Amino acid sequence: MIEAPRGTKDILPNEIKIWHFIEEVSRKIFEIYGYNEIRTPIFEFTELFMRGIGEFTDIVNKEMYTFQDHKGRNLTLRPENTASVVRAYLEHELNKNLPNAKLYYLGPMFRYERPQAGRQRQFWQIGTEAFGSDNPGLDAEVIAMILHLFSELGISNLETHINSVGCNSCRNDYKLDLVNHLSPQKEELCSDCKVKLNKNPLRILDCKRKNCRSLASKIPSIDLSLCKSCKEHLDQVCDYLKELNINYIVNPYLVRGLDYYTHTTFEIIDKSLGAQNAVAAGGRYNNLIAQMEGPDIPAIGFAAGIERIILSIKNSFTSNERNDDNKSIYLATTSPKAHLAGIKIIQELRKAGFMVNMDWTSKSLKSQLRRAHKLRANFTIILGEEEISKHEVEIKNMKDGNQIRVSIDKLNEYFVKKFYVEGKLV
Ligand code: ATP
Ligand code: MG
Repeated sequence: MIEAPRGTKDILPNEIKIWHFIEEVSRKIFEIYGYNEIRTPIFEFTELFMRGIGEFTDIVNKEMYTFQDHKGRNLTLRPENTASVVRAYLEHELNKNLPNAKLYYLGPMFRYERPQAGRQRQFWQIGTEAFGSDNPGLDAEVIAMILHLFSELGISNLETHINSVGCNSCRNDYKLDLVNHLSPQKEELCSDCKVKLNKNPLRILDCKRKNCRSLASKIPSIDLSLCKSCKEHLDQVCDYLKELNINYIVNPYLVRGLDYYTHTTFEIIDKSLGAQNAVAAGGRYNNLIAQMEGPDIPAIGFAAGIERIILSIKNSFTSNERNDDNKSIYLATTSPKAHLAGIKIIQELRKAGFMVNMDWTSKSLKSQLRRAHKLRANFTIILGEEEISKHEVEIKNMKDGNQIRVSIDKLNEYFVKKFYVEGKLV
């Protein structure tokens, strides 16, 4: 039997509700903050990610799903969405055509990583990108939006870690500092980090190997190298966060795994998740648009992994706290003749917006009721020849077992009352 590839997962019907919930809440929150949705292709030219994410990052070096199409074009399944959104932004001149260039996305990303809890090869991200301002207030607004989103999703106990990775100039000073400190201990670094020491020393701070982490923790942190304006930017982001009563931790070793970041970087962490504990991450990328041959436009964005959000929601809620929003009706028949009248009844109920399942098996009433229970129907309509002759149905409340006769013409009214008035949805 052929199975799904390692690192991918089917999302089955019994799990889909939480996905819909996250998608709906995310769209609502992003739109409240003035973002509009953008959908970019799942694959792009490989060069886009090499230039956008950076040639010497783990993502580009080791994690991309790259292939050639029939004409020999070099393509890659997107490992993240920022580079694609920037490409689309430039290609369609959204800086001129959109009065408010704030975009959000939602979709699958692909990285060849070692699968483990909260880490897959195909995983879903939600995220936003805001173009056109380098005001530190916007950085704080993005963080506030993410925390607002998580609070709506019922996730609490999060930590917000922030840092600045500086601008091109002070970051270069820091890179030299890193090389000077680490070169004498080069032999103790892992083979990847030995290469990074020459090509991209900042990424050594991002290495997850124990030995490299311990060496990295002994080198001076970037805050000592930041130039005056980068330091001021970070201080102002902190002032805005304080104004919004958002608790944060300045973590001067937080550099993030992508090359495009400048100034503010941040991660939202759920400690209960264990090793893969970053639920959301992001930062400023003031040079990326110019680097992709566009105008000099600053931007800031973030991405969050939906699979990790789900793990986090499951840790935050106990199962009986989650409300059961199931609203459904089942139609059971006691005579094959009732099928004809039944289909008409349920079609009317569906047009009125009720979820109805009908039995087509002509099994005993007992086994039909068993099936209604399994489907978690709130009510079962029982229809037989006697009911049809009286233009009525029998309705069984599946929770308390009570039965009541209702005229077929009054069915819609009856269920509106049961589901929306007594169920308090009005
Ligand atoms: P990590 O340090 O966990 O590898 P990252 O720095 O690679 O994360 P980003 O590229 O910034 O993460 O992606 C943002 C978010 O997307 C992460 O915080 C995480 O929630 C999610 N994410 C990233 N990679 C994966 C993956 N392989 N599987 C599931 N979720 C992921
Ligand atoms: Mg990663």
